[in-house]
Amino acid sequence: MSLVTMETLVQKAWTEGSCIPAFNVGSLEMIRGAIWAAEELNKPIIIQIAERLLKHSPLEYIGPAMVNAAKEANVDIAVNMDHSSSLDVIEKALELGFTSVMYDGSTDPYEDNISGTRKVYELASRYGASVEGKLGLVGGSEDGLSDHGIKCTNPELSHDFCERTGVSALAVAIGNAHGDYPAAPELAFDILEEINENAGKPLVLHGGSGLTDDDFRKAISLGIAKINIGTVSFKNVTKFAGDYLASEGKQDYFGLNGAMTQGMYENALRHIKVFTGVE
Ligand SMILES: [Zn+2]
Repeated sequence: MSLVTMETLVQKAWTEGSCIPAFNVGSLEMIRGAIWAAEELNKPIIIQIAERLLKHSPLEYIGPAMVNAAKEANVDIAVNMDHSSSLDVIEKALELGFTSVMYDGSTDPYEDNISGTRKVYELASRYGASVEGKLGLVGGSEDGLSDHGIKCTNPELSHDFCERTGVSALAVAIGNAHGDYPAAPELAFDILEEINENAGKPLVLHGGSGLTDDDFRKAISLGIAKINIGTVSFKNVTKFAGDYLASEGKQDYFGLNGAMTQGMYENALRHIKVFTGVE
């Protein structure tokens, strides 16, 4: 039980038809809440932070906390740098002990995406870390500030991309989006099925907040072995903090800290159960 690579976790989940939740975190409360849920259910998880959110949680502060929390945990945990495009940030994360990086070259032309991802693969390999690549456009962004629209992954390119880049997992675009969905999305499961037949690697679904449990189960049955959960965690932590501050009696910092941790824990618990089939 310890800090492990993303590849170790998703490869096993993929062959077993299961899925590893990847929780985006932004504070000690969120790290602790996620690991609390994972330990209680005795299931592995991934904790990650997106490059765009480092302005709120500097990598030099939160990175060591994530890595050390994973090392201390009673379950296997991978620590991932989510949606990075800067080699400097990626190298810093690897130096801090991250066991995985996601390189997002999906808005670049195909060949540029391949060469950028390959470069990151070569860098990450020197640290024994795994790489997640991305093909196709997922709507929205981690900080809600940009949107390149949605463009589904081309199944016919997925094998070529995985072979030439060396990635351990491939993030797909099948109508999923980051942040809140304005209306329940219709995921293109037919395209996911084709990607799964072609890619030969575990697949990753971003924008897990707002999908139904049936969506999750169907996606997992079609090769999704990592699902990113961000927005719904941030919202639940905020809700628990708000409810605590509005509660009767005297509030203090430590009570608030506990409420935020609980908000993350309950959201993480729910997702781990659905993804791994725990009743
Ligand atoms: Zn994402």
